Amino acid sequence: MRKIRLYAPGPTEVPPQALLAMAQPILHHRTPQFQAILAEVAEGLGYLFQTKSPVITLAGVSTAAMEASVSNFLSPGDTAICIRGGKFGERWAEICTAYGVKSVNIDPEWGSAASPEDLEKALKANPDAKAVYATLVETSTGVLSDIEAFGRIVAKTDAILVVDAVSSIGAVELLTDTWNVDVVAAGSQKAVMLPPGLGFASVSDKAWALTKSAGCPRYYLDLAKAHKSMEKNSTPFTAPVSLIIGLRETLAMVREEGMEALLARHRKLAEACRAGVEAMGLTVFSKAPAPNLTAVSVPDGIDGDKFVKTLRDEYSLTIAGGQAQLKGKIFRISHMGYADQIDVLTVLGAVELVLSKMGYKGSGGASAAAKVLAG
Ligand code: PMP
Repeated sequence: MRKIRLYAPGPTEVPPQALLAMAQPILHHRTPQFQAILAEVAEGLGYLFQTKSPVITLAGVSTAAMEASVSNFLSPGDTAICIRGGKFGERWAEICTAYGVKSVNIDPEWGSAASPEDLEKALKANPDAKAVYATLVETSTGVLSDIEAFGRIVAKTDAILVVDAVSSIGAVELLTDTWNVDVVAAGSQKAVMLPPGLGFASVSDKAWALTKSAGCPRYYLDLAKAHKSMEKNSTPFTAPVSLIIGLRETLAMVREEGMEALLARHRKLAEACRAGVEAMGLTVFSKAPAPNLTAVSVPDGIDGDKFVKTLRDEYSLTIAGGQAQLKGKIFRISHMGYADQIDVLTVLGAVELVLSKMGYKGSGGASAAAKVLAG
């Protein structure tokens, strides 16, 4: 018997309501019924992204939304500031480079967040920068950035602030309009509680203005074209109907729980998870830990890759290891989206089980987490 458990930071578990909705016979995308669903989804996305600006849905994974967030606003030869500090921050710079945009990089140490002062300095040194690319939660390190502070700084300039909220939308506070975030790029397979396949991009008026002069080539990922269709409750190409029908379900769940309760749930799960790993004598890797996932340093004497593989192969429980320079050095536990208190206790218990089989002595993780959850 194998019971599959997903505790990696994406793809995450999909609630049964959404799975069942997506199993319905296919609806044609050019029908009044589907148009009504698109209208409902557009409204739900506005709530999820905390914005009055349109949120464009793309058929493609999150990187499609990230790529669109470069090609629709910039021209080859433009300058952009990219905050890196992890694999996904680096992706912003890679996309800029692919489009001939000069990327000026801010490089906090992996595990730390860039400071608002670093951004202020970079903008002063590069007054021609047209965009700042940041990441709300850098999933490769579990680090949370101060987007509110970045927004205050960027709003004083002509640049737009573009935020990767791929793993964090629906789990971590992001007041898109209030914080002056111009573009939020996200995807479906994390805290949005769906399978992979949808990308999202919210676009402010300041960002729309840039689309008029942006000279980077684009066709499939043309946000203005998608927006024009969206205003008619339509899509420029065949819509990923089943995923959008699933999205209607998960957006309804978000509404029902309410943003405040949803954010409080994630904060509590993260607090419990951190208390659990620390009680086991382990160290949280991130200096600015995020509410949606916890990155933990692999203890001395333990083979980090083998640990993650053992959980997967012997217990069919998936957490994530480290990426790039952190391979074998950290493991990452997700507590986002369709995740509750029992999930945190389960994953901590499983971590303890496998670590102890590998000779690690620390224990008491799940009970320390239970104390936090009970409190
Ligand atoms: N940015 C962040 C912060 C992510 O966590 C991920 C996925 N792990 C991505 C970008 C890329 O997402 P996708 O694979 O859906 O393109």
